[in-house]
Amino acid sequence: MNLLERELHYPFGDQMPEPGSTFEVAPGVRWVRMVLPFALNHINLWLLRDEIDGRQGWTIVDCCIARDESRAQWEQIFANELQGLPVLRVIVTHMHPDHIGLADWLCSRWNAPLWISSTDYHTARVLCGMGDSAAGGEEAASFFAAHGLVDEEAVAKIRARTSYYSNMVPAVPKNFVRMMEGDIVTIGGRAWRCISGYGHAPEHISLYCEELNVLLGGDMMLPRISTNVSVYAGEPESNPLRLFLESIRRFKELPADVLGLPAHGKPFTGVHRRVEQLEEHHRDHLAELMEACGARALSAAEAMPVLFKRPLDLHQTTFAMGETVAHLHYLWFGGRLQRSLGEDGIYRFAATRAG
Ligand SMILES: [Zn+2]
Repeated sequence: MNLLERELHYPFGDQMPEPGSTFEVAPGVRWVRMVLPFALNHINLWLLRDEIDGRQGWTIVDCCIARDESRAQWEQIFANELQGLPVLRVIVTHMHPDHIGLADWLCSRWNAPLWISSTDYHTARVLCGMGDSAAGGEEAASFFAAHGLVDEEAVAKIRARTSYYSNMVPAVPKNFVRMMEGDIVTIGGRAWRCISGYGHAPEHISLYCEELNVLLGGDMMLPRISTNVSVYAGEPESNPLRLFLESIRRFKELPADVLGLPAHGKPFTGVHRRVEQLEEHHRDHLAELMEACGARALSAAEAMPVLFKRPLDLHQTTFAMGETVAHLHYLWFGGRLQRSLGEDGIYRFAATRAG
């Protein structure tokens, strides 16, 4: 446990559900933990006891990526944990592959509707249909090159990685039920309020149940790792860090003792403190970047080691580049950095003189 984690509280300690089983964390709320084949090696999914149109059953929150191992883990859950009842609904917090990957399979298998924000639904449909401009392809290669990634081998590999998203999200359901900020979703007779969040995905939906004092935070409120906040090739002029910081501030409106159920890590309390930790984390990153860009104009590739001090493989480099551009853009939009485009086609950022 790192220093920051000591400021949070894990009410279940190190207890967690075995693969293929579940663990009750609040009345009618069961924790499912599935393996992911990445550095981030697991995802938390949730089973909520529900009743829709007079039918008893379950609502699933988030799905895992599409692969045989995940489908096998779900089949085990279905056999052992549903008390003979069907899945009635699939809620997806946002369009990233570990959350939406198996939505199509789950919805077809149970003839259940998909509930998701409209923005994330349509983004997922576009990406799974045409390959992924977020993590690979020509668009991504030119985006990273414009931010100073000059290693030709790395750029070539990014250019060649065209079906990154569709491999993990082969399809999404043909229709959906829209969730929006402030909507109340009734699950098992209890009201869950949708809280939209930006900066990580186009329109991430967290769900808060006042009666249970539980927050299904998805990727917007993680206890251990900081949420990925990146600029992507598909929206190269965006300012996602501003959106993210504005979004997480709203979690401080919830009760201080709310139980946070994150998509990665363990259920925790201390959401208010966690918001402050993330604010401090990004404030420190921004200060370090300001200092580095005060000495000379830097491209994102040159500024990346300021934020990421360990060696990175290509996959991590693409994430780190996106995050570095996000921090540079925050300062640029805030007027503290100015951007220039060199004759070499590379963007560089320098401290604003007047500032
Ligand atoms: Zn995500």
